Amino acid sequence: MTTSLFTTGGRVTHRVLSLRRRWRKTRRKYGAAITQMVGSHPILAGMAGTAVAVAMASLTFVTLYDGRADALRHAHETSENLVSLISSDLARNVEIYDLSLQSMVDSAQNPATWRLPGDLRQSVLFDRATTAAFLGGAYVLDVHGQVLASQNGELNPAVRLDDRDYFVVQQRNPSVGLFVSHPFRSRLREGNVSIGLTRRINTPAGDFAGVALLAIRMEYFQRLLDRINIGNEGSVFIALDDGTLLARKPFSPEAIGTSIAKSPTFMIMASHAEGAYSANSAVDGVPRIFTYAHVPSTPLIAVVAPAVSDVFAEWRRRSLVAGGLTLALGTVFVVVAWLLAFTLQDKVAAQAELVRLAATDPLTGLSNRRILDSRLDEEWLRARRNGSPMSVLFVDVDYFKGFNDTYGHAAGDEVLAAVAECIDSVVRRPVDLVARYGGEEFAVVLPDTAADGAAAVAEKIRRKVQGMSLFYGESEHGSVTVSVGCATCLPVQGGSASELMAAADAQLYAAKSAGRNRVKSAV
Ligand code: GH3
Ligand code: MG
Ligand code: MG
Repeated sequence: MTTSLFTTGGRVTHRVLSLRRRWRKTRRKYGAAITQMVGSHPILAGMAGTAVAVAMASLTFVTLYDGRADALRHAHETSENLVSLISSDLARNVEIYDLSLQSMVDSAQNPATWRLPGDLRQSVLFDRATTAAFLGGAYVLDVHGQVLASQNGELNPAVRLDDRDYFVVQQRNPSVGLFVSHPFRSRLREGNVSIGLTRRINTPAGDFAGVALLAIRMEYFQRLLDRINIGNEGSVFIALDDGTLLARKPFSPEAIGTSIAKSPTFMIMASHAEGAYSANSAVDGVPRIFTYAHVPSTPLIAVVAPAVSDVFAEWRRRSLVAGGLTLALGTVFVVVAWLLAFTLQDKVAAQAELVRLAATDPLTGLSNRRILDSRLDEEWLRARRNGSPMSVLFVDVDYFKGFNDTYGHAAGDEVLAAVAECIDSVVRRPVDLVARYGGEEFAVVLPDTAADGAAAVAEKIRRKVQGMSLFYGESEHGSVTVSVGCATCLPVQGGSASELMAAADAQLYAAKSAGRNRVKSAV
């Protein structure tokens, strides 16, 4: 039992370790591939990083811009709701007052009313609605504009109101119905500023007999607006459709009663039942978003205008934070992307240099023995697959020990470098390989090369080295020479790369034995 548990545990541990090993291997493999890719194309990698940062930033900015549209939509909705509330309040009150007015007209046109005793006549003419909070008074005016009856019972024969706009309009136009006057200072109520709601009183024959007047104190409009919160810089106002300002929040006494008809945007307001636009205020120049509506059945226009700065304040604050962070993080991302790209480029370059150094013989700059061995195997397999011949050359400097002894090692090194360069200059095909085999021996791999071709290359090398005339007094030729052993085979017929090398080596010995400075080939 214990053994079985142990065995199972051991197997699990083994599985975990093997998984870990596999993960590490995969990570190394893909890590190296990514490093190679980024390091080889740092500009592309940097640009890709920049593109990602720009895409992310664009996304943020598009979202923020949408937020701006949201803020605007929200402001419009709120303004529309407020305008609707103000408008319905005004419409309802005007309707109630108009009912009172109509009742006053009906009573005033009835001759029996005027025959009633004073108290009774008062209650017949003026119903309870005329005592409402913001009413400045209810009056019946005669044909000359003098007060015939008033809700509070006071009559002032010295006061004539026949010059008022409402009086003139009702006098001249029998069909005007309900007329809302411009603001005026009351002559009956110590200069109180009001507007008049009026209807015409006719004689039984339909001639002008006077006017029924309800004065609405301006406070009514002002109080209505005071309840509305429209932000720090916002404004809300009620105007007549000819541009006369009746009430405004923030309250500005000097503006009440003045006309905003000259403001270029008032034309829009006057000619549409409702709508919205952005403009600088005609009163204080503040940029605002105006939403307006005409109050049904009245000449009144209700306008709600939050300031642009208030509407976008929260959005601007959020955008500054989010935009600033996006820019900062994006910049960091871009900088890191470029740094990483160029760091990896340096790393890849250093790695490539290491690989090159590991493959190169430092004295001659030729490939070293390690590369020779791996290329030999590769070319052998390739030749076997293709059924093509393959040749190798062994090149050895003659009496080189003697040269060193005579001229010193430094001179010997120079000769080796010169011979290497010489061999390399003869062997030009990209598939050929020249390597330093060791000491003063060089190997040349000639893939897809038959015996005669290899012998020709070998002879060319031998002649060119001699032709360099590197002085060597003790040599019978007076200059440095080399002996070359060639071997060729068809790998498809069997054998191995090392056997081929051994055959070339044997030919080199044969060349040495035959007197040096010559080429020997295995037939
Ligand atoms: P052989 O004609 O039979 O080839 O005679 P050899 O003297 O060239 O052959 P041997 O194998 O006796 O001597 C090789 C000499 O090459 C020994 C050493 O002094 C010299 N040698 C090997 N490597 C280097 C090197 O890197 N630099 C220098 N200067 N000499 C080297
Ligand atoms: Mg040798
Ligand atoms: Mg030698």
